[in-house]
Amino acid sequence: MKHKFETNLIHIGQDYKEQTGAVIPPIYATSTFAHGNPENFDYTRSGNPGFRNLENTLGSLESADYATVFSSGVAAITAVVSSLKSGDLIVAEENIYGCTFRLFEQVLRHYGIKSLYLDFSKEETLETLKELSPKIVWIESPTNPLMKLIDIERVAAVSTSLEASLVVDNTFASPYLQKPLELGATLSLSSTTKYINGHSDCLGGVVCTNSKEWSEKLNFAVKALGLNPSPFDSWLISRGVKTLALRMERHCSNALSFAEALEVLPVTNWVRYPFLPSDPDSSLARRQMTGGSGLVVAEFSYSKEETIKRLKELELFVLAESLGGVESLVCHPASMTHASVPKEVKESVGITDSLVRFSIGIEHIDDLIADLKRALS
Ligand SMILES: *Cc1c(COP(=O)(O)O)cnc(C)c1O
Repeated sequence: MKHKFETNLIHIGQDYKEQTGAVIPPIYATSTFAHGNPENFDYTRSGNPGFRNLENTLGSLESADYATVFSSGVAAITAVVSSLKSGDLIVAEENIYGCTFRLFEQVLRHYGIKSLYLDFSKEETLETLKELSPKIVWIESPTNPLMKLIDIERVAAVSTSLEASLVVDNTFASPYLQKPLELGATLSLSSTTKYINGHSDCLGGVVCTNSKEWSEKLNFAVKALGLNPSPFDSWLISRGVKTLALRMERHCSNALSFAEALEVLPVTNWVRYPFLPSDPDSSLARRQMTGGSGLVVAEFSYSKEETIKRLKELELFVLAESLGGVESLVCHPASMTHASVPKEVKESVGITDSLVRFSIGIEHIDDLIADLKRALS
């Protein structure tokens, strides 16, 4: 019988425990397996019962035929692009995650794999895309850190007509709020370090797909490049993901109230949150997401120094990179997550020195808003 998302979170991916009656599958802390075992495990780099459990859980969340887990989000990205050859082209959203940009520019370029960056929120970009022959189209929605939304269904239609694979980095939304494969994407990639694990205590990545060919390429990349997670980390993620639905509900309601409070402060130039009624993408948000997730971005009228000073005044928000954990964090993208992006590029995409990204946790919203008001007053 087919069950709903919340039920799958708890009941799918619970195998390899039948001999003991354990309610929760144990961690298989082993590097190797006896030859000829019934499930054909051979060596943990090419598979472990814990990875299979996690893959079954995460695949079910996007109704995907296949899921492959990795040691980190960047390892998942590496696996996808390792299938490319010299001369191949990636066309990416200009506002992608800083480390994705760094990998494309500072690693892939040496191997002759080219990338081009466009603003996928603009109508003309889809026309430009039709004149190129990319192997991969790479987008994120919402984007990091500007919280711009991209119409996944429209980009998927154009990518399909060009026979390009569309990769959607779904880290910011999580599969609870957005299902890229259902909107036509070829691959849905997440850093499980963020909302999926949700507890900021390990790194991980996953790619979900309905393409057998892609699934084989990804499994090969795990073995050939050594991109597998550790059995301990994959167990932590299996544990963390069980509460994904509950956590996302609170992240969404807290973030919306926080964005509304931030929007009316005199020191904010603008605020973006997909489900904020004033957000330019709010109608697209309602079409492709079931909630706005937990990230809020704002630009203040402060200088760079004053912005950082105010952020350090916050007591409940730790000034740190990352997002998606139960605790609230705040980040200064220009000097932190996007420090490796050249200044001209940052400015051209709008990552200014007064831009601040909040990852709203699941604390009581009144405490979060009071902390904000105190730090800014
Ligand atoms: C964090 C993140 C990644 C990279 O994931 P790691 O687990 O840190 O390697 C990729 N994409 C986005 C959008 C992220 O936020």
